[in-house]
Amino acid sequence: MKPAPFAYHRPDTVDEALALLAEHGYDAKLLAGGQSLVPAMNFRLAAPAVLIDLNRIPGLDAIAESDGGVRIGTMVRQRVAERSAVIAARAPLIAETLPSVAHAQIRNRGTVGGSIAHADPAAELPSVMLALGARFHVRGPGGARVVEAGDFFTGLFGTALEPDEMLVEIEVPAAAPGTGFAFDEVSRRHGDFALAGVAAAVRVDADGRCLSARIALLSVGEGPVLAASAEPALVGHALTDDAIRAAASVAAQTDVDPPGDIHATPAYRRQLVDVLIRRVLPRAAERARQAL
Ligand code: FAD
Repeated sequence: MKPAPFAYHRPDTVDEALALLAEHGYDAKLLAGGQSLVPAMNFRLAAPAVLIDLNRIPGLDAIAESDGGVRIGTMVRQRVAERSAVIAARAPLIAETLPSVAHAQIRNRGTVGGSIAHADPAAELPSVMLALGARFHVRGPGGARVVEAGDFFTGLFGTALEPDEMLVEIEVPAAAPGTGFAFDEVSRRHGDFALAGVAAAVRVDADGRCLSARIALLSVGEGPVLAASAEPALVGHALTDDAIRAAASVAAQTDVDPPGDIHATPAYRRQLVDVLIRRVLPRAAERARQAL
């Protein structure tokens, strides 16, 4: 398949890209790695009249330490993030998760920001950012603003970005002492979109009691889903097998409304949520104890 005809622009600055977005509005699409947009165009699921290519804008692909956390430019390739020593040290959940995103060839081109802006409910990075409490730096004609991950994802492929705005940077805050992370998913073949996945960040005190638990789920709703009911089941308790089993069960029963499709039934996805939380939380808890 070939895409519908489109005009192509290659701005040199963010300001130029924003001016083009303002000029063309809903007719325009930003092109990052093209690993979701170009297949959609080739299948004619998307037919933007104007493409605004971000690939030649300098400065959007930086990875920098910041106040114990890390700032990731929107155009950082997923494969570069996966191999970054700074990200491995400051945001190990991202490094652990990225090998599960598609295939290496796709991660060579696909960008961190493109995955977040695309907001596919089956994508790993939106859930990871939700678990990490990331902040998204956005620019538009009115200037810059920051959107918390919890406010960014608004539904099926929906985000808080206005049509004339672009994501420029992702800020992952420093992890407090005693915080541990883990990720796992189930997919039919490695590199396929997951049937369900879990990204978790838990914090414990010196007595092993849970101080906070952010568990984000993918492929089981219209976007990344925070397992809000699991947190009260864990906070204030030691992260024992019993406590984790109770939290996994309550999350699977109350926090998700999974879709059914040719790959999996809603009931199977719900069961995966239960199983994956029971797999992920002990690992996150052990890492949290090591990080005290
Ligand atoms: P693009 O395709 O260029 O853009 C995607 C969308 O985001 C477009 O609407 C674009 O306008 C918008 N956009 C991009 N950058 C910005 C920005 N800075 N500001 C505002 N809007 C922006 N992904 C997964 O998460 N998990 C998988 O298992 C997975 N498997 C895949 C398997 C295959 C075979 C393929 C082809 C893709 C797969 N993907 C998967 C998708 C891949 O990770 C994409 O790289 C990613 O979803 C989009 O990133 P991109 O940089 O390619 O964005």
